[in-house]
Amino acid sequence: MVVVVVVVADAGSSANVGTDRRREVHIVNHRRFGEAAQRASERRRREDEATRLKDEVPRLESLRLEIEEHRMGGVVPEATHIRRIVVESAPALFVLPCLDRECKEGGHDVTHAILRALVAGETRFEGDHVCAGRLGTGDCNRSLRYVGIATYR
Ligand SMILES: [Zn+2]
Repeated sequence: MVVVVVVVADAGSSANVGTDRRREVHIVNHRRFGEAAQRASERRRREDEATRLKDEVPRLESLRLEIEEHRMGGVVPEATHIRRIVVESAPALFVLPCLDRECKEGGHDVTHAILRALVAGETRFEGDHVCAGRLGTGDCNRSLRYVGIATYR
């Protein structure tokens, strides 16, 4: 289970964006589950329970994530896609599945990095995340690269 606690110190003011924001995102109690189905229902439950994106980032107008997966140094073309976030209803949770079907307990939790960028009002940001799942007897190590494009009111 992932519990995301967002402490908002100066909510409401848009005049001082990026100057004195004291927000902390703590991700605690991170536990992985074995079965894929269990993970899927767990993921849905977490999305239902998570705070809403529009509450965390009230100024956010639109958000799009361009996602690429890399494996052994090369892009995985079938994994490249664009995800448009429905800002009005989306949870403040960004957990992208590993797209390797054989991968066990993998996935990319990039919630912290993305929320931080959005709270800071960034219009373009990017990051990487390496899957920590297992593939057979080895590590998955697929890496995901995302570019976020955001607009604000
Ligand atoms: Zn993986």
